[in-house]
Amino acid sequence: MSELLALGWEEWVGLPELSLPAIKAKVDTGARTSALHAVAIEPFGTEKNPQVRFIMHPDPADPTIEVICSAKVIDRRNVTSSNGSTELRYVIRATVHIGGKKWPIDISLTNRETMGYRMLLGRSALIDGVSVTPGLSFQQPILDYSAYKKPQRKKSIPKRPLRIAILTQEPSNYSNRRMIEAGEARGHVVDCIETSRCYMAINAHKPEVYYDGKALPRYDAVIPRIGARLTFYGMAVVRQFESMGVYCVNRSASIGASRDKLLAHQVLAQHRLGMPTTAFAKSSHDTKGILDVVGGAPVVVKLLESTQGKGVVLADTRKAASALIDAFRGLNAHFLVQEFVKEAGGSDLRCFVVDGKVVGAMMRTAQAGEFRSNVHQGGSVKKVRLTKEERRVAIKAAKILKLSVAGVDILRSDSGPKILEVNSSPGLEGIEKATGVDIAGEIIECIEANVPTMFRTGTKG
Ligand code: ADP
Ligand code: MG
Repeated sequence: MSELLALGWEEWVGLPELSLPAIKAKVDTGARTSALHAVAIEPFGTEKNPQVRFIMHPDPADPTIEVICSAKVIDRRNVTSSNGSTELRYVIRATVHIGGKKWPIDISLTNRETMGYRMLLGRSALIDGVSVTPGLSFQQPILDYSAYKKPQRKKSIPKRPLRIAILTQEPSNYSNRRMIEAGEARGHVVDCIETSRCYMAINAHKPEVYYDGKALPRYDAVIPRIGARLTFYGMAVVRQFESMGVYCVNRSASIGASRDKLLAHQVLAQHRLGMPTTAFAKSSHDTKGILDVVGGAPVVVKLLESTQGKGVVLADTRKAASALIDAFRGLNAHFLVQEFVKEAGGSDLRCFVVDGKVVGAMMRTAQAGEFRSNVHQGGSVKKVRLTKEERRVAIKAAKILKLSVAGVDILRSDSGPKILEVNSSPGLEGIEKATGVDIAGEIIECIEANVPTMFRTGTKG
């Protein structure tokens, strides 16, 4: 440091990398290491990449202000505090800002709830050029806690290591492997949690999710990858994370709405998005009426819970359609009957939407003799350029269903784009290979931009 920095025995400091713009600190040359107030300290990460996550209440007078911090652990040290007790503490490194100057310091984490100052600036932080006059206070500009009360601008939120969980039944599939890779490449720690192995304690006071006999740690974000077979239970687990205050990339209610084809159709129709004309019936015997609604054969009949094209059948003639509808009804199945969009020519568009943007799009084309373009039905994929209207429709569908990550499937019809369905756990393999886009990275960046760090908890203490 070229210029000198004169400090008194108390000063306002900032640790912006930890989202702590203003802390009133005691400058104490009697202590060696600097210390920061931290509660709910939880180590995470790996031996090679050790991290620690903690909660800091910067304003001693207002415990409702809560900042979630995380940082790389550089050491664990026995520290003896002024009251003589020794404690093994996590030590992190962060850049301290005081009066226009900044430099890195080592900070140990400890509960300072009962102390007058939330931070102690020790001897090792007082590098060359910093002088302390113990008789004076506030020699540098005085700050206040107002920054914690204002909503943060997304761009100004510092990147911190995040602890992310993927909720999935298939930890090692392509999509999950890619998201782990993309998360780790950006300095985060990503765990896979098997949805069906989670169990929950449901109470108002301290909602938790248990796994293998233990309560799960606090995650900053959850990426739900809920398969069709586990929708009901998976939604409950996601809801539990939501009630714990964890940021969920797609919320439970949105997953449910998109999974229920009928509900999704009704909601999207309310917002005037184009869809194939669709009729829905449970026990009506008016097969003729149902077919008339959609304009007669050919029609597509779909089981409501169909995925991968498995419950989707094309009936070419009115006679075949009637027989099919009667058969489904006899099985007490929920189904919908839909106009067949012939001009789509066995192709549909998969638009991958992340955080309100189409980050990639591909065209899936059915194999010869098949109208379903699903990859599981032998369909092939290639990169495609969307029209402006297709892009708008895809973004709007994801927005209406409040999905931050969505695969919006669209048919190209003579009367414009028609939405087939919106998938809340779209696979990454096809789209990344077809487009060459790092979709996993986009999902991680969506989390970085949306995970809240500062909270007003509303409850004191
Ligand atoms: P799933 O959820 O099982 O994938 P979809 O509704 O997406 O069911 O239908 C599967 C595939 O069948 C679609 O990707 C599309 O290629 C084709 N398809 C579905 N509905 C229609 C339709 N109304 N007109 C033309 N093709 C359709
Ligand atoms: Mg589909």
